[in-house]
Amino acid sequence: MTTTEKKYPNAFTADDIDLIVAGKVVAPNFEPIDLEEACAFMLMGTVNDRHGWFKTAGAQSYSRTARYFEEHGQGGQQLGQGVVIYSAGWDGERHKYGIKAGRWVLCKHEHVAHAGADPRRGWRPAHCGKCGVSLTVDSGD
Ligand SMILES: [Zn+2]
Repeated sequence: MTTTEKKYPNAFTADDIDLIVAGKVVAPNFEPIDLEEACAFMLMGTVNDRHGWFKTAGAQSYSRTARYFEEHGQGGQQLGQGVVIYSAGWDGERHKYGIKAGRWVLCKHEHVAHAGADPRRGWRPAHCGKCGVSLTVDSGD
């Protein structure tokens, strides 16, 4: 993560997500999911659809073609999480290219509520205790 132009010192920026989508860094907190779950997320989520590369973890790391479905908030802000569907290479048994999917998230947030919340009006100010990103929800009119 970079530290320039951040509201909180450890908060992520669009640059952090761009590095993942470009296949420059391994998607953090990656967890494999089945393709059905990935398709449901892709179709029903509020996502930005981005073409890129998926960097595999481990000593023999390399990048594969991928599509990222990156979640965004009510105001279009990047949430630093989503689903990636990526090429799993040639499957010799099935005689076709394999496809895999997984969820990734920059930070497994630790919700810290602020004083002054008014849930009746949909105002729930908060931030993450680990990375500092705002988790404020304002669903009022
Ligand atoms: Zn966090």
